[in-house]
Amino acid sequence: MRVVYSPAHLGHEIVSETVMGRPIPANEVAERAERIRSALEADGGFALEGPTEHGEEPLAAVHDPGLIRFLETAFAQMRAEGVDRPALMPEGFNVRGLTEGMTPIGEPRQAISGRAGYWALDTSTPIVAGSYVAARAAVDVALTTVDLVLGGEGAAYGLCRPPGHHAARSVYGGYCFFNNAAVAAEAIVRTTGERVAILDVDYHHGNGTEQIFWRRGDVLYASIHADPDRQYPYYLGRADEVGEGAGRGANLNLPMPRGTTNEQYLVALDRALEAIAATSGSVLVVSLGFDTYGHDPIGDFALTTDVYHEVGRRVASLGRRLVILQEGGYYRPALGANARAWLRGAEGRPHDPLPAAGFTAAGTAG
Ligand SMILES: [Zn+2]
Repeated sequence: MRVVYSPAHLGHEIVSETVMGRPIPANEVAERAERIRSALEADGGFALEGPTEHGEEPLAAVHDPGLIRFLETAFAQMRAEGVDRPALMPEGFNVRGLTEGMTPIGEPRQAISGRAGYWALDTSTPIVAGSYVAARAAVDVALTTVDLVLGGEGAAYGLCRPPGHHAARSVYGGYCFFNNAAVAAEAIVRTTGERVAILDVDYHHGNGTEQIFWRRGDVLYASIHADPDRQYPYYLGRADEVGEGAGRGANLNLPMPRGTTNEQYLVALDRALEAIAATSGSVLVVSLGFDTYGHDPIGDFALTTDVYHEVGRRVASLGRRLVILQEGGYYRPALGANARAWLRGAEGRPHDPLPAAGFTAAGTAG
């Protein structure tokens, strides 16, 4: 399988994030993608290549140009204001009740902490010097993966980092800046004229993808995730969110309980695959996360490496061409083995579990 990877993600290195007011060691770190890259290289069955630049147009087809400009300029503005912090985090937020009954406000013209809060969803998504370049590269990784599949590959994998599915049209957050899967799906719709389905198997609900395609009948979004009553992103992901207008019926949320087992998961997967099979279209975008793994420090599901091979196999059995894009997954020692198992399953190769591969930084020998 062809794999698209960019070392630009290494510039988005996060040391800490803030959860409920307390700084904790960051979960969404560069080592994640490097673990996966190492495991796929060691397998021998995956061919890595760099992305090609696709410019801003496909990104602006999905995201508010104001969000793009903010992310492009935010870190430099923070430095220009003389704020000496390792990363930019919002101070206040543009919350729903602030302008209830009023004409919505615009982006603040000056203070960077206010600008950040205008676009941000949370305090867990720091912006560092290399974040924008990394986020743009992740979009190019996704779009290059689309090119491979529309060019004839049956399946291709984009090792996107930072992830994307929490980013809405005008919102960044949840470790995400641009919605790589949504940009990919939109590009497929525009190129092929076909309907497209997105299957989101990350542990979290992809609130951004849901929002972007909420009123769209040509993009089906199906997600299996932790019940938002107990887990991030809290405000979206419930089963009664089915889309509106032309998009009514094109949004399927399958919230799952704490401790979800392999067996429970596969039942939900089959439901999602049934819904996808009932729609037309030849390409499926997969938002692939491994925070469903039993040892994940954020998640509370109980999935094993073996089931990822089976999930990949069942997804491929739909017979659609697969654009597989990396989202979350935070138990770093098993990330490589889990990604390898999933992708081998999707390719119809046998499950051949190996010990988790060691971490080597890109550009470092050994
Ligand atoms: Zn996640």
